[in-house]
Amino acid sequence: MIAKSFLIGLTILTVLTSFTACGRQDEKKPADAEKKLNVVTTVAPITSIVENVAGDKVKITGIIPEGINSHTFEPIPSDSKLLAAADLIILNGLELETPTLKLAQANLKKEASIFSLGDKTIQQSDYIYDFSFPKEHGHPNPHLWLNPEYAMRFATLVRDELTRLDAKNKQTYEDNTAKFLKQLEALDQAIKDASATIPSNNRRLLTYHDSWPYFARRYGFQVIGAVQPSDFAEPSPKEVIRLIEQIRREKVPAVFGSEVFPSPVLQQIAKEAKSRYIDKLRDDELPGKPGEPQHSYIGMMVENMTIMFEALGGSTEALKKVDPAPVAGAHADYRTKN
Ligand SMILES: [Zn+2]
Repeated sequence: MIAKSFLIGLTILTVLTSFTACGRQDEKKPADAEKKLNVVTTVAPITSIVENVAGDKVKITGIIPEGINSHTFEPIPSDSKLLAAADLIILNGLELETPTLKLAQANLKKEASIFSLGDKTIQQSDYIYDFSFPKEHGHPNPHLWLNPEYAMRFATLVRDELTRLDAKNKQTYEDNTAKFLKQLEALDQAIKDASATIPSNNRRLLTYHDSWPYFARRYGFQVIGAVQPSDFAEPSPKEVIRLIEQIRREKVPAVFGSEVFPSPVLQQIAKEAKSRYIDKLRDDELPGKPGEPQHSYIGMMVENMTIMFEALGGSTEALKKVDPAPVAGAHADYRTKN
């Protein structure tokens, strides 16, 4: 008898305990999860900008994996679920993410919105059409974020849009953005100071991937060529010969490949033309791993500038003072290639 009532008591106690535990969990979950805006971003530098502004106040998922060709990226069918659950989808625009935009439009929930930063940052008259993005194809060069002035504009646009959709966190968005803008201003100044140490004749860029024209316009560089054709294939033999002659003639000290697009062709061109070949520039893959301070938009810019300016004969001293860490910590979900 004693044993039986003890067992019954124990069972009741267990049931009660698990009830309380469940009850507590159920109360906690919605308070945390339901009220957070669900934001989907595209390339990692934009994810990082949103992360700086939002901190942990929104859920952020970058849909385009780091290290993948963002220009040809096609979301997989299961990504439609991610897009359908989003309250806000933030893109660069200028036709960079057309397949993602189409899938987003097809799956968007009723009250959700799509926010294209590029179209609110520059006028059509400021679009650059060039080597890999010729005017006759009608697609402007989309690499706005490699110009920190535009990254500042992206940050304030994101702040205002998040505030519109989630006014209760207005103060946090304002504080984070103010801190982030200070860091971006420091980055901008450091790039100006460091590029001034490069011999003026060397402030010329020949790259594989055509991502630097908006950067070049701000800091007084000249993009003398980009090797990658507009269909992202390899250049023709005729084009290769022309490039080798151009590099020899113009005495370019270094040519730059990119992490995302390893190019044996550019390596060969550099060798033939007796120029240095550096294949470490990145336009949409952040250095380090999520959670590390350099895994950020600013970290990517500092690393790019350090590699580029050293190769062109400049000093990178000014860049060493720039703090790359996200102002409100690492919170975004970055996808990786593998
Ligand atoms: Zn690119």
